[in-house]
Amino acid sequence: MIYLDYSATTPVNNEVLDTFVKATNAYIGNPNSLHKLGVESKKLIDASTEQISKLLNVSSKEIIYTSGATEANNAAILGVCYRYSNRGKHIITTKLEHSSITATLQYLQNHGYDIDFLETDSTGRVDLDNLKSLIRDDTILVTVASVNSEVGVIQPIEEIGNILKDYPKIYFHSDMTQSIGKINFNIENVDMISFSAQKIYGLKGIGCLIKKENIVIDPIIHGGKSTTIYRSGTPAVGLIVSVSKALRLVMENLDENYEYVYSLNKYLKDKLKDNKDIHINSNEYSIPHILNISIMGIKPETMLHALEEEDIYISTQTACASKATSSLAVYELTKNLEYSKYSIRISLSHLTKREELDTFYNVLIKKIEELKSLNESR
Ligand code: PMP
Repeated sequence: MIYLDYSATTPVNNEVLDTFVKATNAYIGNPNSLHKLGVESKKLIDASTEQISKLLNVSSKEIIYTSGATEANNAAILGVCYRYSNRGKHIITTKLEHSSITATLQYLQNHGYDIDFLETDSTGRVDLDNLKSLIRDDTILVTVASVNSEVGVIQPIEEIGNILKDYPKIYFHSDMTQSIGKINFNIENVDMISFSAQKIYGLKGIGCLIKKENIVIDPIIHGGKSTTIYRSGTPAVGLIVSVSKALRLVMENLDENYEYVYSLNKYLKDKLKDNKDIHINSNEYSIPHILNISIMGIKPETMLHALEEEDIYISTQTACASKATSSLAVYELTKNLEYSKYSIRISLSHLTKREELDTFYNVLIKKIEELKSLNESR
């Protein structure tokens, strides 16, 4: 098998899985229970939270455990909007957000909120002057993903934070699901951050919302005691310990892994770049882990299944938006309908081997020729 869909999800690191199993077996108490078993579970959670806080350079009080980035994004956006609707109902975002942001904003729009989309330049990065011009007295939230999941463009998060720090009544949220553990940002001026363990070789079913301590939001899930007042439910001891382990492992190896994935990306791009049927959509501002290309005239699903026959796995758009007919993100970046219609995403990892890319390339070229001649004979 050649897996080139790491941005959809990553395989679980064995050490992380081991940590999960051991903690789940050894710590059976509900962390909310007052007896010894409960206290031990709570201590373990507190130690994990402390570790995450050190890795991300935030306070442990700022960490809210969720079921994943989808819930973290919902919690951040709805939490601010429910709390501060008396101040205003204007939100600024981009056309490069994940469906857990766009669908939440669409829901808010149906309930009287006003959404503005930031313009992007030819590199896909948001226009900072446009941001300044869109800010209004009733703006309560700006949400911009650090890295888009389809084309991989890295947004100027620090610059956006610098602009917004002069507007204390506007909260700045960034979905960092595709950047955590891959590249670092200075998050000093970011109020809320979301991420998911399943993208960093952790388990599915846990994520975090980092929310700066001074910000009060309304919870979207109400109920019993938990690690914070912002997300109720019995804390998932094993998952919490496993997410801190997953985060530690990716953060410890971040620079080394980045360099390696960068070299892989360059290696594959060099092979693809002169092929007349292929257009490379990702650009110099894209994270090396994501290489988005268009194979002109060949439907993305057709190519996905043709590669699947050879046990090779890639994505058409993102796993969460696979029903749309063309890629909005590729269109936003290239402003070219044809490129957006024929795009596929190859996503790389430090686990990817050069030989896998050689095989992938050879199979891809063979499949392009086969599918082209099939199209011609129709
Ligand atoms: N945001 C981004 C940028 C993503 O890529 C994803 C996962 N595809 C999510 C949010 C949602 O993560 P989860 O499915 O773990 O909730």
